[in-house]
Amino acid sequence: MGRIQFDHLTKQFGETVAVEDLTFDIEDSEFLVLVGPSGCGKSTTLRMLAGLETPTSGDLYIADEHMNYRVPQNRDIAMVFQDYALYPHMTIRENIRFGLEEEPGYTEAERDERVEDVAETLGIDDLLDRKPGELSGGQQQRVALGRAIVRDPEVFLMDEPLANLDAKLRTQMRTELQRLQEELDVTTVYVTHNQTEAMTMGDRIAVLNDGRLQQVGEPLELYHAPENQFVAGFIGEPMMNFLHGDRSEEGFVGEYIEYPFDERLERAVGDAADLVLGIRPEAIDVRHAGESASQSLGPHEFRMTVTVTETHGDQNVVTLTHAEDEASHDTIRAVTDGMHIVNAGESVIVTVEPDAVHVFDGETGEALCNRRLETARELTI
Ligand code: ATP
Repeated sequence: MGRIQFDHLTKQFGETVAVEDLTFDIEDSEFLVLVGPSGCGKSTTLRMLAGLETPTSGDLYIADEHMNYRVPQNRDIAMVFQDYALYPHMTIRENIRFGLEEEPGYTEAERDERVEDVAETLGIDDLLDRKPGELSGGQQQRVALGRAIVRDPEVFLMDEPLANLDAKLRTQMRTELQRLQEELDVTTVYVTHNQTEAMTMGDRIAVLNDGRLQQVGEPLELYHAPENQFVAGFIGEPMMNFLHGDRSEEGFVGEYIEYPFDERLERAVGDAADLVLGIRPEAIDVRHAGESASQSLGPHEFRMTVTVTETHGDQNVVTLTHAEDEASHDTIRAVTDGMHIVNAGESVIVTVEPDAVHVFDGETGEALCNRRLETARELTI
């Protein structure tokens, strides 16, 4: 079975620690997305799995077998890269069949049959006699997948396989890859720096930063209950807003806002002094100040000014700044309903409910409190 175990795995290149003390398991048949910014160690992790890099220390197991020093040919894995690397002079049939080149135990007829089966699964059976140059990008990527699938490996390793496709095709291939992975039931490690791909494709997501594992969990777990500020900022689009400030008698005090804590926040934050409030743009309620300009505001309401509105049709992303200092660079972003027009320069009232607030330790970045989980659980049903 294709279970993968990383046990204190470390890889150093001279002084550079590319992957540090990586410890977690990937279950058999699981679709795990490895995500993080450029240089965080994603490819190095994948290359160690593939046998293209030897770990500096720690252990790596696939299907309970120790892999540290095993050559790639003796690992039951297949890789798909961003670059399809198809042979231009070969037909599609020959390209897919090439995946079986080093696989013993198949007769010629069985090889032909496997190629046909795989082509049918991928919906490219009518293209088998063409050359790669006669195919679209999406079709070529399917052939590259076919070359990996045909081997029926224990583990698939995918390194940004959709990065060269245009946006529409990428969305389509995302769904197709998920369907395929479920159908084939093969453990898959998928590397990307794209958080949308991670959120939509993975059974679980592992977030790396600076060679270190930040958190591993289901997509909604990472979105609703990030363990630190890095994960909170990386998962979710538009990004979570962060307000820096200090603990005050009532709760939080930043440069422009004071935010009184309710009992839940009060208890979770304790007496930590240096705080960062985290607020998702979609958790902010924005309404026109209009006639209520003279009204007094509730404890979790703020008067702000719209500086930029990005319209997406279904929703708007509005950038807001503090009403009394419109030139301030200290801005927050909110998502509003697309039917609700908000114009730049407008004065608005913003509400942030305490249930939706995350609080991080300003020094360590560690989450002291995430949004109320009961609410999040309701949302997942
Ligand atoms: P990207 O998304 O840009 O591909 P990544 O997350 O895959 O980045 P890695 O390629 O794993 O990151 O690199 C992790 C770190 O290790 C980087 O600092 C990189 O410069 C370094 N590194 C990777 N390969 C080597 C190498 N062969 N020699 C020296 N340093 C390396």
